[in-house]
Amino acid sequence: MELIELAKALTGNTAALTGAGVSTPSGIPDFRGENGLWKRYNLEIYGSYPQFVKDPSYFWEMHVEIMHTFKTVYPNPAHTALAALEKKGKLRGIITQNIDGLHQKAGSTVVHELHGTNETSSCIVCGKKYDTNQISHHLLSFEKEELINLMRKGKEIPVCECGGWVKPDVILFGELMPHAPLMAARELAQSCDLLLVVGSSLQVEPACSLPFLTRRNNGRVAIINRERTPFDSIATFVFHGNAEDILPQLVQLV
Ligand code: NAD
Repeated sequence: MELIELAKALTGNTAALTGAGVSTPSGIPDFRGENGLWKRYNLEIYGSYPQFVKDPSYFWEMHVEIMHTFKTVYPNPAHTALAALEKKGKLRGIITQNIDGLHQKAGSTVVHELHGTNETSSCIVCGKKYDTNQISHHLLSFEKEELINLMRKGKEIPVCECGGWVKPDVILFGELMPHAPLMAARELAQSCDLLLVVGSSLQVEPACSLPFLTRRNNGRVAIINRERTPFDSIATFVFHGNAEDILPQLVQLV
């Protein structure tokens, strides 16, 4: 299939759904990959909201690794190409599973974050907002092992002035998804003519339901991924390759 065919299908009523694959070229590994965090940490403990409420030190043990990676990442050509499509009036908005804030840093203005964001943090009791950068700056001044030892004893865990634990606004297992981005994502997926799915394995809800919403309303689906996905068979356009190579070429063609 030629990329020009996809370029011709990009009307102003196109939406994008992005997963960890748009950010791997920025140096953020996907979680399910060979060396991914989810291979090394048991999610039922380290990524669980009920466990966070009981003892946040496990979540932080995994999350300081993420914060360390996020310190030095920047948008890559896949992010900037999507921002360029919006500027050219070809993209209505982005639905993302990512928590890294890189679409916004690349200049995209309509971004619905299904799994929350690492940019801000909130107290789980009173909801007071905090800047995750400041928390990260403090926590990353410790050696990881020393920090985790202190946290296991209840020390150095970010805490609100009300006494509640502070947690980055990323959605953990067992935690309610934010309602507004989910509703906006569903509306966009079901009303667009074309859903461009980039770098998502489409293995988790709610992302994996969105291409069905598009198809049910006679919209078309395009998939750009390094690997096959379970949705390749319902897509009109499928491109197997790197998002950071394919998307900039697409921008040149529209
Ligand atoms: P995922 O299910 O979205 O899988 C990543 C997909 O991207 C895979 O199908 C892989 O083949 C593809 N891919 C990787 N690099 C690519 C590239 N350069 N070009 C095209 N395709 C590429 O993500 P996951 O790793 O299983 O993570 C699950 C969830 O964890 C995400 O939905 C997200 O909430 C969170 N997560 C976020 C980030 C981030 O914010 N950057 C990173 C990792 C995980």
